[in-house]
Amino acid sequence: MKAYEIRRKFLEFFVEKGHDIEPSASLVPVDDPSLLWINSGVATLKKYFDGRLTPENPRIVNAQKSIRTNDIENVGYTARHHTFFEMLGNFSVGDYFKEEAIIWAWEFLTSPKWLGLNPERLHVTIHPKDDEAYHIWYEKIGIPESRIVKLEDNFWDIGEGPSGPNSEIFYDRGEEFGSLSDPECYPGGENERFLEIWNLVFSQFNHNPDGSYTPLPNKNIDTGMGLERVASVLQNVQTNYDTDLFQPIIQEACRKLNVSYGKDKETDIALKVMADHIRTLVFAIGDGVLPSNEGRGYVLRRLLRRAVRYGQKLGMNRPFLYEFTDIVAEIMSDYYPEPIDKKEFIAKVIYGEEERFLETLADGLRILEEMVHLAEEEGRNTITGPEAFKLYDTYGFPIELTEDIASEHGLAVDHVGFDQEMELQRKRARAARQDVDSMKVQGGVLTELEVPSEFVGYENLEKQTEIS
Ligand code: ATP
Ligand code: MG
Ligand code: MG
Ligand code: MG
Repeated sequence: MKAYEIRRKFLEFFVEKGHDIEPSASLVPVDDPSLLWINSGVATLKKYFDGRLTPENPRIVNAQKSIRTNDIENVGYTARHHTFFEMLGNFSVGDYFKEEAIIWAWEFLTSPKWLGLNPERLHVTIHPKDDEAYHIWYEKIGIPESRIVKLEDNFWDIGEGPSGPNSEIFYDRGEEFGSLSDPECYPGGENERFLEIWNLVFSQFNHNPDGSYTPLPNKNIDTGMGLERVASVLQNVQTNYDTDLFQPIIQEACRKLNVSYGKDKETDIALKVMADHIRTLVFAIGDGVLPSNEGRGYVLRRLLRRAVRYGQKLGMNRPFLYEFTDIVAEIMSDYYPEPIDKKEFIAKVIYGEEERFLETLADGLRILEEMVHLAEEEGRNTITGPEAFKLYDTYGFPIELTEDIASEHGLAVDHVGFDQEMELQRKRARAARQDVDSMKVQGGVLTELEVPSEFVGYENLEKQTEIS
């Protein structure tokens, strides 16, 4: 099943269950200073859940483009994480509750009319005190006790305000992805075997100022399922990157870079990171964000530079990311018209930013040559820590690159000194960081979505962060 069919089926299924479709909103939050990016389906619907607006229909379904920067270190390494992804969600604003949410999720996943997943592969997690959810999964759905895992973490709580337990659905990808003898190999553990596909949040309590919890008069449902993950299961492939959402991008990258996918681990990581970041760039620029030195723009700048550096690792030394705009727009055109409509503009922005970064790198090379001369003049056999750090911070030189070039001149690099400078930089960034006051939804992601420390605290135009 193609990804666009999964998206369509999801919307159709919940329309049949009386939901109205809410169109995918911009990645840039509206009227919500607590959030840097829309990072889940519910993030765009806060207006209904906090009572600012009453929806015409309390049953809502959406496919929402989302960006999460907190997962960036996982991108390219795990099978399932992206910076840009789509969340499919159904929502009840004070209407139906736990029983319908669970029964419909199960029906959508397992009915041959819809996704037709093998029910025996599905495991669920619940909160240990959520007897109601246990009862529904065990009695009504008939999942054996052995596949219902109780986890203390399955509770979302923002301090004061609505809160409640959640229940997550995992797909068991089988032995080849992990052995049950590994203590982390369970649904919700650190493993690649049990793939979390869907999170059902049951907002049922009010967390009172005195710390007590009382039932909410209007209980809400908020769910989120990752489209790319479900596609990987239905297309029976090893990672999200092997689905039809990514393969055309990766194949095109292979052609351009003259490499193969699936032969070498490092090459694959580079291809995955590039494919991931290019989607984020296309969609974020399509929603009006431009690369810059702060906030969202800085996230884009950093993603672009990472992607360029990975391209360089595979031998690419000219602007090339912009050439993927059309492919991304095409893959996503079934539901998202913006990238098609704005593709010339998007490509131009990416091209300009790539060109500028390549110039910065070239400047850094000249500076490094001067440093080499100075070292020779002074009879040193190392590039100092502060020098290496300047190249890294101002010109985007990863330490390995500095080392490679230094060694060509018979010089070493002072690693300890470099690390000390990095640590000082982190401390400065931490001090400069403004805490984001965010609402905790979808298992806590909104509060997790902080701007990683290396994103902020920079004043200079050309400062840059680590690449890999
Ligand atoms: P994980 O534990 O795998 O990092 P999560 O628990 O952080 O996922 P939720 O906040 O519960 O994710 O989001 C709901 C759903 O959205 C997840 O079950 C998953 O299918 C999808 N999802 C979340 N983060 C990502 C991501 N970075 N890339 C792709 N899909 C994601
Ligand atoms: Mg996560
Ligand atoms: Mg999780
Ligand atoms: Mg989750």
